[in-house]
Amino acid sequence: MKCVICKTGEVQPATVQAELKIGRDRILVSVRTEACQQCGEPYYSAETLQYLERVREDFARKAITPGSVGTVYQVS
Ligand SMILES: [Zn+2]
Repeated sequence: MKCVICKTGEVQPATVQAELKIGRDRILVSVRTEACQQCGEPYYSAETLQYLERVREDFARKAITPGSVGTVYQVS
């Protein structure tokens, strides 16, 4: 399948880091999905989107407490 974003890359199975934004927090979730080899645009299946939504809810009600991999800094 050709990528609908760049129209030249091939979409192939890949592991990507999906980013969820929850308030001011961001969560990176490694998911096995398909992504464009050219521009990196990820294509999520319905199941993967459901999984990401579940992670979002679990995080929001503190059912999971993932480790932190960095800090977001702001220059104003
Ligand atoms: Zn692409």
